[in-house]
Amino acid sequence: MPSETISVRVVARCRPLTQDEQEKGGNSVVTVNGDKVKVNCAGKESVFSLDGSFGPEQSNKHVYEGAVNSLLQGAIDGYNVTIMAFGATGSGKSHLMCGSEGDPGIIPILTQNLFRHIRERNNKEFMVTVSHVEILDEKMTDLLNPHNNTMTIRQHPHKGIFIDGLSELTVKTGDDIALYFTQGTRARKLGSSDIRAHRARANAVFMISLEQKERQSSKIGLRSTIMLADLAGCESINSTDQNIVNGTQGILNVISALAEGKKKGGHIPYRESKVSRLLQDSLGGNAATLIISAISPLDRSYSDTMTTLQYSTLAKKIKNTVRLNMDDTHDVIAEMRQDIARLRDKIASASQPDRDDISRMEDLIRDLEIAKKQTWPEKEKMSAKYEEERKINLANKGILEWVMDSMSRGTKEHQEKMLLLQKEKGQVSSQYKDKRKEVDSLREQLQIKIADYAKFTESGKKSDSETKTRVTAIHELKERLKKETETLKSLKEQLVDVQQRQHQEREDAKSHTSAIKGNAELRQKVEREEREQMEMEHKVMIDEELEKSKMEVEAEKTDIQLRAAEGKQYSVKEGSDLEIQVAEMKADRSVVALKLETLQTEKKHVLSELEEVYVSHREEMELQQLQHFQTFRAYREMFEEQKAAIDSRYRQLLEESIQDAVYLSSRNSDITQENQLLKQQIAEMKDVITKLGGTIPDSVR
Ligand code: ADP
Ligand code: MG
Repeated sequence: MPSETISVRVVARCRPLTQDEQEKGGNSVVTVNGDKVKVNCAGKESVFSLDGSFGPEQSNKHVYEGAVNSLLQGAIDGYNVTIMAFGATGSGKSHLMCGSEGDPGIIPILTQNLFRHIRERNNKEFMVTVSHVEILDEKMTDLLNPHNNTMTIRQHPHKGIFIDGLSELTVKTGDDIALYFTQGTRARKLGSSDIRAHRARANAVFMISLEQKERQSSKIGLRSTIMLADLAGCESINSTDQNIVNGTQGILNVISALAEGKKKGGHIPYRESKVSRLLQDSLGGNAATLIISAISPLDRSYSDTMTTLQYSTLAKKIKNTVRLNMDDTHDVIAEMRQDIARLRDKIASASQPDRDDISRMEDLIRDLEIAKKQTWPEKEKMSAKYEEERKINLANKGILEWVMDSMSRGTKEHQEKMLLLQKEKGQVSSQYKDKRKEVDSLREQLQIKIADYAKFTESGKKSDSETKTRVTAIHELKERLKKETETLKSLKEQLVDVQQRQHQEREDAKSHTSAIKGNAELRQKVEREEREQMEMEHKVMIDEELEKSKMEVEAEKTDIQLRAAEGKQYSVKEGSDLEIQVAEMKADRSVVALKLETLQTEKKHVLSELEEVYVSHREEMELQQLQHFQTFRAYREMFEEQKAAIDSRYRQLLEESIQDAVYLSSRNSDITQENQLLKQQIAEMKDVITKLGGTIPDSVR
C-alpha cells in the first residue's frame, strides 16, 4: 500500500497572563511571530523555529482553523491523525483542548466539524465510536465507563495499538460526541483521588474511531483514528517518584530517541510508559501528528518554557509514515485463521510443544475474537452494553448525576464541593497522622534522654562538659518537640476547619436535598452516607480531644521529670503556674464533657430527622403505589374495552358465517335437485335415441 513520509508538525501556543499573574506583577517574557518563538529573560534571548505559533490574543478557534482543521480533513479521507497538547502544568494545555464557556477548545470544535463533514457526504455511511482514557502514574481509568476491570495496551493486526478493555461508545451526532467528552472530563475531575497530582501528572486521551463505506457499493471501506491527547505536565520529570517520572519521561525519551534518528534498527523506548506506548503510532508511526506546545509567558515559568520549546524543536525532527487505512477486516480474519490452523497443526504434531507457540496461538485466538467484533452491528451491540454498565459504574463511584449533569444546579455544586472537601480532608488527615507519629517518637526519645540523664546525675560522676552536652541535647530535643507540636496543632486546626466547612456545606445542602425529591432511593442514600460520615467524624473528634488532653499531660510530665533530674525546685511562681495549668486542664475536661453532651443532643436530632425521612419516604411510597394502581386500572379498563370490541366483532363474524352456511346449504339442496332433474332428462333423452334406432357414443354412455 502506498505510504508517505511526513514530519511531525509542532506549533507553539502562548497563553495570556492570567489576572492573578498580572496582579502579582508577573511579566511576559515570550513573544511569538510567524514560526518564531522568542523567550527573553534577564537580558538573554533564545529564539526557537517551529511550524507556526499562536499568541495570547488568539482564541482556540484561531488555533483550530490555523493548524487543526486540515488534519480533520485527513482523518475523513482515511488517515490516522493525532493532536497532542504538550507543555508544563499551568501552561494552558487543558484550556486549549477543552476550552471554556467563551472560548471552546480544540476537541469540541473538532467534533462539531466532524459531523458537519459526515452530513455533507450523504453518499457514504459512517460508524463513529469514542473512548476516553486517563493515565495517571501508570494507572489507566476508563473515563466513560469507570470500571475496575484490567486494561492492557496491545497491538492488534486490525485495530493497531489499542487498549483492550476500554469502552467504545457509538455516536451519531456532534452533540453525542460533545456530551461524552464533557462527561468524561467531569468524571476525570471528580473520579481522581488526588486533585493536585491529577492536575499535573494525568494524561487524558480522547479517541475517535471513524469507519466509512459507500452506500450501495461493494467498494472496500476506509477507517481512521483521531487521537486527542492532553498530556501530563512536562516539568514533572524532576520528581523523585519513579512512576511520575516514567509517565512523562516516557514521551520525552521517545521524542529524543526518534529525533536522534535511531529509528532504523535502533530501539525506541515506547514501552517505557503507558502514554508513549498508546501514542506509538503518533510518534514515528502511521499518523499525521500535530504537537501544540503550550507555553506560559510568565517570567517565573521561564525554565519550564525553555524545556517545552527545546523538546518541541526535537519533536519537529520526527518522521511519520502515513498511509490510507483500508478496511481489511476480512483479509485480516482470514489470515489469522490460517495462522491459527498452522500453529495448531504444529503444536499437535510436536512431541513437546513450544511454550511460545502456545502463547502465540492464545494471543491469535484473542485477536481473532476482537477482529470478529469489529462489524458495525457488533459494535452497536457492545456500545449498548457499555452504556448500561457505565451508569452502574458511575453510580458506584457516586458521580452518576454529576457526570450526567442531570441533577439540579444547586445539588451539583454541593456534590462537587463535598467531594473536593472530602479529598482535602483526606490529605490533611494523612499529614496529621504522619506528624502525630513523628511527635510521639520525639517524645519517646526525649523521655529516654531524660531518664538517662537522671541516672547519670545519680551516679555522682558528673563532669561539667558531659552535663552540659546532655542538657543541651535535651533542650534541643525539647525545642524540636515544641516546634513539631505547633505544626501538629496547626494541622489539627486545618482539619477542624475542613470539618466545619463540610458541616456547613451539609447544612446548606439540606435545602437542596428536597430537589432530589421524587427519587426517594437516591435521597435516602445521600442522607445515610452523610449521617454515617458525621458519626464517624464525631467519634474521631472525641478521640482526638482526649488524645490532646493526654498529650498536654505528657508534656507537663516530661517537664517535671526534667526538673527533677536537674535537681531544681519549683519557684513560687512556677508552682502557681502549674496550679493554673491543672485548673485549665480540668476546665478542658469539662469542655470535652460538654462537647459530648452536644453530640448526644445532635444524635437525638439526627434520629428524629431519620424518623422524618422515613415518614416522608413512606408517604412517597404510598403515593407511588397509588400511581401504579392508577396506571394499572387505566390499563385494565383499556383491556376490558378492547376485549369487548373483539368479542362483539367475533360474534358478528360468527353470525355472518352461520348465515353463509344456511345460505350455502339451501343453495346446495337446490343444486342437488337441479342435478337430479338433469340426470332424469338425460336418461329420457337416451331412451328416445335408442327407440329411434340411434347409437349412443361411448363417451356419454
Ligand atoms: P494546564 O492544563 O497546562 O495545566 P490550564 O489549561 O489549566 O493549564 O491553564 C492554566 C490557567 O491559565 C488556567 O487558569 C486557564 O484558565 C488559564 N488559561 C490557559 N490558556 C488560556 C487562554 N488561552 N486564555 C485565557 N486563559 C487561559
Ligand atoms: Mg491540565
